[in-house]
Amino acid sequence: MKEIVIVGGGLGGMSAAITLAKHKDFHITLIEKNPHLGGKLNVLEQDGFSFDLGPSIFTMPQYFDSLFEMHGKNREDYFKLVSVAPHWRNFFEDGKVIDLTDTLEGMKDLENISDKDYQELQDFYKYTEKLYDFTNDILFKNQAETILQTLKYYSPLKIFKDSDYIRTMDGGIRKYISNPYLIDIMNYFIKYVGSNPYDAPAVMNLLPYIQWKFGLWYVEGGMYQASIGMQKLISELNITVKTNTEVLTVKKQKGKIVSVTLSDGSMLNVDAVVSNMEAIPFYEKITKEPDQKLKILKKKYGPACSGFALHLGVDKTYPQLAHHNFFFSEDLKQNFENIFKKHKLSGDPTIYLVAPMKTDPSQGPEGHEIIKILPHISVMNGDQAFTKEEYDQFEEAILTKLERMGLTDLRKHIVSKELWTPEIIQQKYYSNKGSIYGVEANRKMNLGFKVPKTSTFYDNLFFVGGSTNPGGGMPMVVLSGQQVEKHVLRSLK
Ligand SMILES: Cc1cc2nc3c(=O)[nH]c(=O)nc-3n(C[C@H](O)[C@H](O)[C@H](O)COP(=O)(O)OP(=O)(O)OC[C@H]3O[C@@H](n4cnc5c(N)ncnc54)[C@H](O)[C@@H]3O)c2cc1C
Repeated sequence: MKEIVIVGGGLGGMSAAITLAKHKDFHITLIEKNPHLGGKLNVLEQDGFSFDLGPSIFTMPQYFDSLFEMHGKNREDYFKLVSVAPHWRNFFEDGKVIDLTDTLEGMKDLENISDKDYQELQDFYKYTEKLYDFTNDILFKNQAETILQTLKYYSPLKIFKDSDYIRTMDGGIRKYISNPYLIDIMNYFIKYVGSNPYDAPAVMNLLPYIQWKFGLWYVEGGMYQASIGMQKLISELNITVKTNTEVLTVKKQKGKIVSVTLSDGSMLNVDAVVSNMEAIPFYEKITKEPDQKLKILKKKYGPACSGFALHLGVDKTYPQLAHHNFFFSEDLKQNFENIFKKHKLSGDPTIYLVAPMKTDPSQGPEGHEIIKILPHISVMNGDQAFTKEEYDQFEEAILTKLERMGLTDLRKHIVSKELWTPEIIQQKYYSNKGSIYGVEANRKMNLGFKVPKTSTFYDNLFFVGGSTNPGGGMPMVVLSGQQVEKHVLRSLK
């Protein structure tokens, strides 16, 4: 029997455990520091509300389906998905409201979308389809993890053309779209990977294509039900799960990890370690690499942004809201500069607001609404991202903006509140500086590639989750857990 330890039971770790459990000669131990599995896919029951503390947008269900199919099961028997329409409602400071409909064709019928806008959107969609085809080949199917590996599959000229190599995400959008509102909307798809559209490679424009092609979903009964469904599958497989247990350190021998030491005092001998803990924190905290050794890694694979996650229960409903809403900054570029370059809290942030009770009234008391507010903000710089006073001022700016933009008397109607800042996110999940999506997709730093799955320091150490390829967000981390299989198999042969 080969002993495989998985460090962390987030979606990446759970997916790796489920995938590796196909091999009857593997014994898998999944170790999670928190009481729950699912990692950032987490939930808080409070004052009669069920607050999803992590993801709210579910895309590409096929990567979840395959986890069940590989064991001869049907995902529908474990958790169900409900489609969400419109996909997003977008509010602008000048009073304009534009829906992002659940089909591209639906955009044609919107009164504030002209024939020219629709034609441009169609051309943009064709462009995003090409970017998806490229990424699907390179990253999802062939699993290239560097530009050198990409060259095994595509010629330099084809990479140049098919990935729109020379442009940023924003540059790619502006090539096709002239309506300034639609430019902001398309740029904000970068939310899904917590990066900056003015620095991210143009290939990130595959995101609108993915959403229109594969849909945007809600998990019946709350997002956390997806984790419950995966936990049920895990309980049916030969996987040992230890929650409330932290991996503290490892013993190394001749470029391999030979055992891991846990917070309950026990030690496990290992043939391979799969870390769902992000790569940089793993090297810093667990294998304790010297700073100098991590210099290049840190420069190339900086953290994606963090978030100011304010969960509110309110004793009022706001009929103008859809399930997913965005309240845009007047100056979107300035907002991203504040997050990624100036390390400042914006006076006028772009606010993502999710109101899940629009789809699922069971998540709170009747006549109430869950308003989860998530502007992206900078990660920690040292021990903290911002001070309590700065967070208080920021919260005021957000609530004032939302009231000004139509959520009348929001503050007066708050009956339940829970705030998660980068500091809390870091402590809870040990993410790099409180990042919520792993590694930033940055054209100059990494061309959108993340830390490779196979460690360059230890022969039997592998990574899954948001810090490795294909990247952050639920479907990608679940895919990383499936992709790691071939690397583990190769190393154990
Ligand atoms: C507020 C918020 C909103 C988001 N919104 C969306 C969204 O709408 N859609 C979307 O697709 N994605 C969203 N994301 C991102 C998404 O949640 C993540 O990309 C994904 O869940 C990360 O999964 P993971 O497995 O990589 O990491 P994690 O979920 O962080 O899992 C890592 C696990 O490892 C554990 N761990 C770490 N170190 C140790 C150790 N030493 N020993 C034992 N255990 C350890 C942690 O406790 C954690 O459980 C959001 C995230 C947040 C926080």
